[in-house]
Amino acid sequence: MNQNYSTCKGCGANVLWLQTAAGKWMICNRPLISFEPGGGPETFVQPDGKVVRGKRKDCGSASGYIAHWATCPRRKDFKKEKAHDGKSSDAV
Ligand SMILES: [Zn+2]
Repeated sequence: MNQNYSTCKGCGANVLWLQTAAGKWMICNRPLISFEPGGGPETFVQPDGKVVRGKRKDCGSASGYIAHWATCPRRKDFKKEKAHDGKSSDAV
């Protein structure tokens, strides 16, 4: 899977750009965390590029990177940017 280390422009956190199985780039938190898939409040990108919903759990049955926009304190800015130019701002 393609991945790039980067820094969030909004909050300055160390993040990871991951290319999902669908070919989209998603900004994710580091490091890899353990979770339980099968529906949940959060979105995870697994190391193979699959995007799944799940719930954080120690020793869960899967591991993945949590989408950064779900936790970023500046996440409102992401939405604003998208609304502004009407295009995907994925290609940073
Ligand atoms: Zn951020």
